[in-house]
Parts: sequence; C-alpha cells; structure tokens
Amino acid sequence: MRMLSRLRFPIAASRGRRYPEPAHPYRNPFQRDRDRIIHTRAFRRLEAKTQVFPPGISDHFRNRLTHTLEVAQIARTVAGVLGLDEDLTEALALAHDIGHPPFAHAGEEELDRQMLRHGDRFDHNLHALHIVERFEQRYVRFPGLNLSFEVREGIVKHSRDVRTGEDAALDEYLPGLQPPLEAQLIDLADEIAYNTADLDDGVSAGLLSLRQIGDAVPAMAELLDTAATQYPGAAERTRFQEALRQLIDLLVSGLIAGTAEAARNAGVQSCEEVRGAGARLACFPPETAEINRQCKQLLHRLVYNSDALLAERRRSTAMISELFHLFLRQPERLPAPYQEQAREEPLHRVVCHYIAGMTDQYFARVYEQNVSRPWR
Ligand code: MG
Repeated sequence: MRMLSRLRFPIAASRGRRYPEPAHPYRNPFQRDRDRIIHTRAFRRLEAKTQVFPPGISDHFRNRLTHTLEVAQIARTVAGVLGLDEDLTEALALAHDIGHPPFAHAGEEELDRQMLRHGDRFDHNLHALHIVERFEQRYVRFPGLNLSFEVREGIVKHSRDVRTGEDAALDEYLPGLQPPLEAQLIDLADEIAYNTADLDDGVSAGLLSLRQIGDAVPAMAELLDTAATQYPGAAERTRFQEALRQLIDLLVSGLIAGTAEAARNAGVQSCEEVRGAGARLACFPPETAEINRQCKQLLHRLVYNSDALLAERRRSTAMISELFHLFLRQPERLPAPYQEQAREEPLHRVVCHYIAGMTDQYFARVYEQNVSRPWR
C-alpha cells in the first residue's frame, strides 16, 4: 500500500501563505489550514443548508455538513492508502462545499441564472475562495484565513480545470496545470459520498425501492442477493445497509485502483509531473465508473426529479429570483456591511454574495421579512 507516495504533494515545497506567519510547534501548515476551515462561520452554516432533502422531512437525512464529513472520511481514507498528503486532502474535502448557496443545486443554478443577466456567473468554488480570502474576518493582520496556496488552488480546481487566460483573478493558481492528486480525489470522493447517501436517504424517503435499485444497478442487485443469502432472517432495511456498505467499499476500492493505474500508465514520477500530465489521474476504472453512472442515473430519475423534490426546487428557485430582484431594486434593504460593499463592487455581485452565504432557514427569514411583508 501507499502506492503513490512518490506523487504526494511535498509540503516543504508549498508556495506558502499570502501573509507569512511563524511556524506552529506541532501542526504543519495543512493541518492548520484544516483547523482554520473547521472554525469558520461558513463551515458551521453547512448544517443548515440542504444537501438534497430539505430540512423538516426527516432528522435522519444528510445535510451539507454531514455530507461534507462523509466526503472527508472517504477522501482521507483514499489519500492514506495511496500515500498522499491526508491533511491537504482533508482540508480540501472539508472546504469543498463551503461556498454552496442555500437550497442545494436549485440555489446554485438560480444564482448563476441571475448573474448571467448581468454578464457574470456564479460558481460555488469561486464563492468558497471569496469566503476564505475575504469574507471570514478572524484575524487582525489579514483578511480571510490566509490559507496555504495549495489549499486555495485545490478549492478553485478540485472540480474543474482552469485554462490559461480564463480569468485574471485565477491567474495565480497555475492555469493550464492540473492540481495535485490530493485535490483531484475530492470530486470523486464527493460522488461516492452523495451517490451512496442519496440511495440511502431515497429509500428512507420512500422514493426508491430495493427492487428499483437492483434493476438499475446490477452490482447492487448482487450485493443485495449476497446479503439476503448471508442474513436470511434479517430485516430488509438492515440487509440494505449491509449491501450499501459493500457498495461504498467497492467504489472507494475502485477509486484507489483506478488512480494507481492511471498514474502508472501516465508514467508520472512526482507531483510536478502530475501537474503537467495534461489530464486528471484520479479516476475510477471502467467497471466502477459504470456502477457510479448507473447510480447517478437512477437517482436523477427517481429522486432528484421526483415530484416532491421538483416542486421544492421550483419553489426555492422562484423565491431566490424574487429576493434577488428585490435587493437590486431596493439595495437599502441589504444589511449595512453589504450596502458598504456595494460602493466598491457591482450591486448584483454583492446581492449574490449575500444570498449565497445564507442558510436555508436564514433565507426563509429574510424572504419573510422582505417579500412576504413588504415595507411600503
Ligand atoms: Mg459535495
């Protein structure tokens, strides 16, 4: 094991922090970055942001915070087995959704739609970068968290490539180069976590049956059969948990094996060569990718596009659009710090930052105060 330790990001070669700081006696820079992320307000707000199921349906379903912990646990395991830097990986996993707006993907899509009307875009990874660079005010000597370069780079690049000349604000993050493997792992750890969790919550919500899962994902049919043979007297619900755990294991093992093989095939010998490889090396082997695809397709069909969640999505999209327009028309309704920001930045961007930072509950309160009970 530790099969890719030659590709581990060498922490001694870190490009460091924007504002130099003295070393800590027993925590390395990536461990400190991880701790700084956990102590942010944005991280705590994840608790009240929808992952897939809006709060109130069940206390057992994932919210964005528990989802984040599942991603961190999976990513850390994979990094450990491969011999990569577990602390860098963990910091990136914990930060991967801190820029997520309220109301899951509906929130993200609607903010992007609103921004497009002004020739701008909303991207939750870039919003996360703003959070760690500007919005979190925890230090006297600098704005934001002063995270190491590689953590900021990973926040920007974990789920997409940055092309040369794409965006001047991203020029410092080595456009055209791949991020280290530690960052490349995050997206697939994220997929493993949410696909398996959404199967679990989808079954609990009554949107999916085990039969439908078995029909759509043959590997899962096999695991369910094995669990039934092994534990004939067990309740269906616990047998499903047995099978689901095996599915996580299968996907995680696939990610480990696929990445090790891609690295071998690419012939890369160092993290620098990973950066220059031209394509991402973290990947599933074809058979695991197929299982992952089947899960995703099933979830889109029966969970994400279910009547219950579609209705919820339409409702939240409409509310975001209403509130966005209201703040554009009446910026005096924004909290004072945002009115101040609007003196230096286009109003639509300030409104977008404000809404993107909200939890579902806070959004509901602000909506209630401003839209349901208008001032005039
Ligand atoms: Mg996620």
